[in-house]
Amino acid sequence: MNYNPSDDVNVVDPEEKTMPRIPGQAESPVTTATSQAPSEAATALEEMHATRHVRLRDLHAYYESNHAVKGVNLVFEPGKVTAIIGPSGCGKSTMVRCVNRMHEEIPGARSEGQVLLDDVDLHDANVDVITVRRLVGMVFQKPNPFPTMSIFNNVAAGLRFTGTPRDEISDRVNAALTGAGLWDEVQGRLSAPGMSLSGGQQQRLCIARALAVEPDVLLMDEPCSALDPVATLRIEELIAQLKERVTIAVVTHNMQQAGRVADTTAFMLNGELVEVGPTEKMFTNPDDERTEQYVTGKFG
Ligand code: ADP
Repeated sequence: MNYNPSDDVNVVDPEEKTMPRIPGQAESPVTTATSQAPSEAATALEEMHATRHVRLRDLHAYYESNHAVKGVNLVFEPGKVTAIIGPSGCGKSTMVRCVNRMHEEIPGARSEGQVLLDDVDLHDANVDVITVRRLVGMVFQKPNPFPTMSIFNNVAAGLRFTGTPRDEISDRVNAALTGAGLWDEVQGRLSAPGMSLSGGQQQRLCIARALAVEPDVLLMDEPCSALDPVATLRIEELIAQLKERVTIAVVTHNMQQAGRVADTTAFMLNGELVEVGPTEKMFTNPDDERTEQYVTGKFG
């Protein structure tokens, strides 16, 4: 099941659903290119460095009696992209949804074990789930801009929700769009609907939305599977840039993609982590025979 953040749209103050005024621009509608260069916020985003480890310790996840993730121990290292591969239904999405606590939103679902962000257990009852979602952003298989919102407001939504002062929002939105490699393509039409963008642009818009709140970790669940090859390449290039700033884990069923983007690859089968290692080793000389069979296409 794919979580759709547009379900959360009611968290946005209705008053804020209009384009905030950007100095030097017509009040509304904003149709001309803004000359406002991404400034302090952009610098802050550029200067972000991935520093945080995510450590899964004996993680189990269940849907009622279906034991979907079975005792996974895995580390997502900062500055590196970790790809999670494995056949459909092996628990990849469930595992990453445990990291930002989306799994617990599903009726009948529960998890056990630890998800540590450095030394903080994100599953600890004292840790606020809103904080977890700010620290751990997520991008989904199908681009899911908020359907009724402009490009600007799509990116601003999370900022408003997390209480960013109004006078910082424009800068932060611009910085996030720049960070997601979308600024040059949309700067003249920030008030256009997010849904008016192409599929690849919508996915970068969703990445901008995730980046805007300056997360430490970005989880991507099959982020390119709905995109054409050109848009896919653009997202893969972006992932390579973003890994310097945020710790990244990418679920993919596309082994070529894992080979292109990932420093580390983890192979799952039937809810278990079979093997994890440097991507090149996983594809050329894995330790486990099941990994070898999977990466050579003998099943999957
Ligand atoms: P993958 O991402 O590797 O394709 P999933 O994590 O989606 O695998 O699924 C792992 C197992 O959990 C499967 O048996 C699947 O049917 C089950 N599952 C996934 N999502 C749900 C859900 N929302 N409700 C019940 N069972 C689910």
